[in-house]
Amino acid sequence: MKQILIVEDDIVIAETIGYALEKNSFAVANVSTGEGALSHLQNNKMDLVLLDIGLPDMNGFEVLKSIRQTSEIPVIFITARDDEIDKVLGLELGADDYVTKPLSPRELVARVNANLKRVTQSSVPASKPLSLFDINEKYMQITFDGTELSLTKAEYNLLAYLIHRPKQVFSRDQLLTAIWNESYLADERTIDTHIKSLRAKLKVVNSGQETIKTHRGLGYSLSM
Ligand code: CA
Repeated sequence: MKQILIVEDDIVIAETIGYALEKNSFAVANVSTGEGALSHLQNNKMDLVLLDIGLPDMNGFEVLKSIRQTSEIPVIFITARDDEIDKVLGLELGADDYVTKPLSPRELVARVNANLKRVTQSSVPASKPLSLFDINEKYMQITFDGTELSLTKAEYNLLAYLIHRPKQVFSRDQLLTAIWNESYLADERTIDTHIKSLRAKLKVVNSGQETIKTHRGLGYSLSM
Protein backbone atom coordinates (compact mmCIF):
# COMPACT_ATOMS: atom_id res chain seq x y z
CA MET A 1 0.00 0.00 0.00
CA LYS A 2 1.39 3.40 -0.98
CA GLN A 3 1.93 5.88 1.84
CA ILE A 4 0.85 9.46 1.25
CA LEU A 5 1.73 12.34 3.56
CA ILE A 6 -0.81 15.17 3.61
CA VAL A 7 0.62 18.47 4.84
CA GLU A 8 -2.37 20.74 5.30
CA ASP A 9 -3.46 22.91 8.23
CA ASP A 10 -7.07 23.19 7.07
CA ILE A 11 -8.68 20.20 8.78
CA VAL A 12 -11.64 20.04 6.42
CA ILE A 13 -9.43 19.96 3.33
CA ALA A 14 -7.06 17.46 4.93
CA GLU A 15 -9.98 15.17 5.74
CA THR A 16 -11.44 15.48 2.25
CA ILE A 17 -8.11 14.54 0.70
CA GLY A 18 -7.54 11.73 3.19
CA TYR A 19 -10.97 10.28 2.55
CA ALA A 20 -10.55 10.35 -1.23
CA LEU A 21 -7.16 8.66 -1.02
CA GLU A 22 -8.18 6.02 1.51
CA LYS A 23 -11.16 5.14 -0.64
CA ASN A 24 -8.64 4.46 -3.42
CA SER A 25 -6.50 2.15 -1.28
CA PHE A 26 -3.81 4.58 -0.19
CA ALA A 27 -2.53 4.84 3.38
CA VAL A 28 -2.49 8.44 4.55
CA ALA A 29 -0.77 10.36 7.31
CA ASN A 30 -1.70 13.91 8.24
CA VAL A 31 0.42 16.73 9.56
CA SER A 32 -0.51 20.41 9.80
CA THR A 33 2.88 22.14 9.90
CA GLY A 34 6.09 22.28 7.89
CA GLU A 35 8.16 21.10 10.85
CA GLY A 36 5.73 18.23 11.30
CA ALA A 37 6.16 17.27 7.66
CA LEU A 38 9.96 17.24 7.82
CA SER A 39 10.11 15.18 10.98
CA HIS A 40 7.48 12.74 9.68
CA LEU A 41 9.52 12.23 6.49
CA GLN A 42 12.67 11.63 8.51
CA ASN A 43 11.05 8.91 10.53
CA ASN A 44 8.75 7.22 8.03
CA LYS A 45 9.03 5.78 4.57
CA MET A 46 6.51 7.70 2.45
CA ASP A 47 5.79 7.44 -1.28
CA LEU A 48 4.38 10.89 -2.04
CA VAL A 49 3.71 14.24 -0.35
CA LEU A 50 0.73 16.54 -0.85
CA LEU A 51 1.94 19.91 0.35
CA ASP A 52 -0.15 22.96 1.15
CA ILE A 53 1.63 26.27 0.49
CA GLY A 54 0.12 28.36 3.29
CA LEU A 55 1.19 26.62 6.49
CA PRO A 56 1.26 28.16 9.97
CA ASP A 57 5.00 27.84 10.65
CA MET A 58 6.68 28.04 7.23
CA ASN A 59 5.47 28.13 3.64
CA GLY A 60 5.30 25.11 1.37
CA PHE A 61 8.17 26.35 -0.80
CA GLU A 62 10.52 26.31 2.19
CA VAL A 63 9.29 22.88 3.18
CA LEU A 64 9.97 21.55 -0.33
CA LYS A 65 13.45 23.06 -0.32
CA SER A 66 14.25 21.19 2.87
CA ILE A 67 12.76 17.96 1.54
CA ARG A 68 14.82 18.22 -1.65
CA GLN A 69 18.07 18.39 0.29
CA THR A 70 17.70 14.75 1.15
CA SER A 71 14.91 13.22 -0.90
CA GLU A 72 13.50 12.94 -4.41
CA ILE A 73 10.06 11.88 -3.18
CA PRO A 74 7.26 13.14 -5.48
CA VAL A 75 5.71 16.34 -4.10
CA ILE A 76 2.40 17.76 -5.29
CA PHE A 77 1.59 21.29 -4.16
CA ILE A 78 -1.91 22.17 -3.04
CA THR A 79 -2.41 25.74 -4.22
CA ALA A 80 -5.20 28.17 -3.47
CA ARG A 81 -4.39 31.21 -5.55
CA ASP A 82 -3.23 32.10 -9.03
CA ASP A 83 -0.11 33.86 -7.76
CA GLU A 84 0.86 30.67 -5.95
CA ILE A 85 0.50 28.70 -9.17
CA ASP A 86 2.75 31.21 -10.94
CA LYS A 87 5.32 30.68 -8.24
CA VAL A 88 5.10 26.90 -8.44
CA LEU A 89 5.63 27.04 -12.20
CA GLY A 90 8.22 29.80 -12.14
CA LEU A 91 10.56 28.86 -9.35
CA GLU A 92 11.39 25.38 -10.54
CA LEU A 93 11.70 24.24 -6.98
CA GLY A 94 11.53 20.62 -7.88
CA ALA A 95 7.82 20.20 -7.27
CA ASP A 96 6.40 17.45 -9.40
CA ASP A 97 2.91 18.77 -9.83
CA TYR A 98 0.19 20.86 -8.27
CA VAL A 99 -3.53 20.73 -7.62
CA THR A 100 -5.74 23.73 -7.01
CA LYS A 101 -8.32 24.41 -4.33
CA PRO A 102 -11.21 23.76 -4.37
CA LEU A 103 -10.03 20.22 -4.88
CA SER A 104 -11.74 17.69 -7.07
CA PRO A 105 -11.17 14.34 -5.31
CA ARG A 106 -11.23 12.54 -8.63
CA GLU A 107 -8.55 14.74 -10.17
CA LEU A 108 -6.50 14.56 -7.00
CA VAL A 109 -6.45 10.76 -7.04
CA ALA A 110 -5.62 10.75 -10.75
CA ARG A 111 -2.66 13.06 -10.23
CA VAL A 112 -1.37 11.10 -7.26
CA ASN A 113 -1.54 7.95 -9.37
CA ALA A 114 0.14 9.62 -12.33
CA ASN A 115 3.01 10.92 -10.20
CA LEU A 116 3.56 7.58 -8.48
CA LYS A 117 3.54 5.83 -11.83
CA ARG A 118 6.14 8.20 -13.20
CA VAL A 119 8.47 7.46 -10.30
CA THR A 120 8.08 3.73 -10.82
CA GLN A 121 8.76 4.10 -14.50
CA SER A 122 11.77 6.35 -14.15
CA SER A 123 13.40 4.09 -11.55
CA VAL A 124 13.41 1.22 -14.04
CA PRO A 125 16.79 1.39 -15.80
CA ALA A 126 15.35 0.11 -19.09
CA SER A 127 16.63 1.77 -22.24
CA LYS A 128 14.60 4.92 -22.70
CA PRO A 129 13.70 5.87 -26.26
CA LEU A 130 15.16 9.17 -27.33
CA SER A 131 12.73 12.01 -27.57
CA LEU A 132 11.50 12.75 -31.06
CA PHE A 133 11.34 16.43 -30.14
CA ASP A 134 14.03 19.02 -30.18
CA ILE A 135 13.40 22.58 -28.98
CA ASN A 136 15.34 25.66 -29.95
CA GLU A 137 14.05 28.15 -27.39
CA LYS A 138 16.01 31.09 -28.71
CA TYR A 139 14.34 30.88 -32.11
CA MET A 140 11.09 29.38 -30.76
CA GLN A 141 11.41 26.43 -33.08
CA ILE A 142 10.54 22.82 -32.50
CA THR A 143 11.82 19.91 -34.54
CA PHE A 144 9.81 16.70 -34.56
CA ASP A 145 11.43 13.52 -35.84
CA GLY A 146 13.97 15.59 -37.75
CA THR A 147 11.48 17.96 -39.36
CA GLU A 148 11.08 21.57 -38.29
CA LEU A 149 7.47 22.35 -37.43
CA SER A 150 5.72 25.48 -38.59
CA LEU A 151 3.89 26.61 -35.47
CA THR A 152 1.89 29.60 -34.31
CA LYS A 153 3.08 31.25 -31.09
CA ALA A 154 0.30 29.59 -29.10
CA GLU A 155 1.09 26.19 -30.58
CA TYR A 156 4.77 26.65 -29.84
CA ASN A 157 4.08 27.62 -26.21
CA LEU A 158 1.72 24.73 -25.72
CA LEU A 159 3.98 22.10 -27.28
CA ALA A 160 7.13 23.38 -25.56
CA TYR A 161 5.32 23.30 -22.23
CA LEU A 162 4.31 19.68 -22.77
CA ILE A 163 7.74 18.62 -24.06
CA HIS A 164 9.30 19.89 -20.85
CA ARG A 165 6.82 17.80 -18.86
CA PRO A 166 6.49 14.51 -20.70
CA LYS A 167 3.76 12.09 -19.65
CA GLN A 168 2.25 14.50 -17.13
CA VAL A 169 -1.48 14.96 -17.57
CA PHE A 170 -2.69 18.55 -17.65
CA SER A 171 -6.27 19.74 -17.57
CA ARG A 172 -7.36 22.32 -20.13
CA ASP A 173 -7.58 24.86 -17.35
CA GLN A 174 -4.02 24.17 -16.21
CA LEU A 175 -2.72 24.51 -19.75
CA LEU A 176 -4.56 27.80 -20.17
CA THR A 177 -3.14 29.15 -16.94
CA ALA A 178 0.34 27.95 -17.72
CA ILE A 179 0.56 29.18 -21.28
CA TRP A 180 -1.41 32.37 -21.42
CA ASN A 181 -1.39 34.97 -18.73
CA GLU A 182 -4.45 34.91 -16.54
CA SER A 183 -5.86 38.15 -17.87
CA TYR A 184 -6.41 36.41 -21.17
CA LEU A 185 -9.83 34.92 -20.67
CA ALA A 186 -9.77 32.19 -23.23
CA ASP A 187 -12.34 29.44 -23.38
CA GLU A 188 -11.07 25.99 -22.46
CA ARG A 189 -12.03 24.87 -25.94
CA THR A 190 -9.24 27.09 -27.22
CA ILE A 191 -6.86 24.42 -25.93
CA ASP A 192 -8.76 21.72 -27.82
CA THR A 193 -8.44 23.74 -31.00
CA HIS A 194 -4.70 24.17 -30.60
CA ILE A 195 -4.23 20.50 -29.70
CA LYS A 196 -6.17 19.48 -32.79
CA SER A 197 -4.06 21.66 -35.02
CA LEU A 198 -0.81 20.48 -33.35
CA ARG A 199 -1.81 16.86 -33.85
CA ALA A 200 -2.44 17.48 -37.52
CA LYS A 201 1.00 19.07 -37.92
CA LEU A 202 2.72 16.24 -36.07
CA LYS A 203 0.86 13.65 -38.08
CA VAL A 204 2.18 15.07 -41.33
CA VAL A 205 5.73 14.41 -40.08
CA ASN A 206 5.17 11.05 -38.45
CA SER A 207 1.74 9.46 -38.77
CA GLY A 208 2.66 6.32 -36.84
CA GLN A 209 3.38 8.09 -33.56
CA GLU A 210 0.58 8.98 -31.13
CA THR A 211 2.18 12.01 -29.51
CA ILE A 212 -0.54 13.95 -27.73
CA LYS A 213 -2.78 11.74 -25.67
CA THR A 214 -6.29 12.61 -24.56
CA HIS A 215 -7.18 11.47 -21.05
CA ARG A 216 -10.95 11.46 -20.82
CA GLY A 217 -12.22 13.82 -18.19
CA LEU A 218 -8.67 14.83 -17.23
CA GLY A 219 -6.88 16.52 -20.07
CA TYR A 220 -3.82 15.97 -22.22
CA SER A 221 -0.33 14.56 -21.97
CA LEU A 222 2.59 14.22 -24.30
CA SER A 223 4.25 10.87 -24.91
CA MET A 224 7.77 11.14 -26.21
CA1 CA B 1 -3.21 26.44 4.57
